[in-house]
Amino acid sequence: MTTSPQRAETARLVKEAADIVTVIGEHVQLKRSGANLKGVCPFHAEKTPSFMVQPERQTFHCFGCGEGGDVFTFVMKYHNLTFPEALQELAQRFNVTLPERAGGGGQDQEQAQKRQALLDANEQAAILYHRLLLEAPEAADARAYLAKRGVPAELAERFRLGYAPNRWDFLVKALPAAGLDLEMALAAGLIVKKEHGGFYDRFRDRVQFPILNLSGQIVGFGGRILGDGQPKYLNSPESPVFEKGRVLFGLYQNREAVRQARRCLLVEGNFDLLALLAHGFANAAAPLGTALTPAHIRTLKGYCDETILLFDGDTAGEKAATRAVPLFLSEQVTARVVLLPGSHDPDTFLAEYGAEELTKMLA
Ligand SMILES: [Zn+2]
Repeated sequence: MTTSPQRAETARLVKEAADIVTVIGEHVQLKRSGANLKGVCPFHAEKTPSFMVQPERQTFHCFGCGEGGDVFTFVMKYHNLTFPEALQELAQRFNVTLPERAGGGGQDQEQAQKRQALLDANEQAAILYHRLLLEAPEAADARAYLAKRGVPAELAERFRLGYAPNRWDFLVKALPAAGLDLEMALAAGLIVKKEHGGFYDRFRDRVQFPILNLSGQIVGFGGRILGDGQPKYLNSPESPVFEKGRVLFGLYQNREAVRQARRCLLVEGNFDLLALLAHGFANAAAPLGTALTPAHIRTLKGYCDETILLFDGDTAGEKAATRAVPLFLSEQVTARVVLLPGSHDPDTFLAEYGAEELTKMLA
């Protein structure tokens, strides 16, 4: 990795603007400890805080695992980014203008540019899907479906829900028209390559849930089919911006509520999460149709003291909960399992019994 004087200067400006306590404090609960701040380390399993942030020196250090460095080190390690990516992300957040190629060129810089192009493709797709859901005649069934599932318009707005139309070439035509590169849309998993040349849309006739990372960027989509087609739920494939084992649906939008409640309700489905919100339970998140990972749990522990696994009462839900509990134990994070009666999921349970009954089950 080459270091140009320009890059060093840019890094200095970003570092000056990006206060380390603000940046780390978003993901780790920090408490004052003399001149420093202390928290539970997001990089190793521990219950007693040994992770220190030193505002004076703008550094962090963990006495448990030895991890440490400056604000860039933290962002790179926490969000799994290269240096140019971390630089770009912090610059954007703290309004520092980056000169072209501030990353200094090379492979890392190329990777950062590709990452940004994938995020741009996802963002543009979300805008197109969302507009369609709100306005298009061909999205009438999608609107009716959301109404039937009890999703208030306010939530559809906040989560930027969308509709992928029943067409093979919606994004294939609309993305280039918006100035986006189809190769990047392909890499983001929005479209698929045809065997004999050309592309087609991956998501068709689906209600689209944008999946946000903890920086609020759209890293992928979850799509629920409207008709009887298979699969019922389809997620974006993994990509340089999307690792399913690290992202939790809804956590970005609900992070303040999770922080305030000191507790996170973990549910299995996107509609479960929206149902919880519609009934006043804002402190929820959902894994993306994958088993929970240590990375999920380390993310959660920066936001809350306790996780409640609110899983379906069926055998699959029971199995998933049984698998997850040892993980929480090994990460030293407090977790409880609440299995809903019968074959209810949170969505159907709330529809039948209401918020009060759920509150009782969570107590
Ligand atoms: Zn540590």
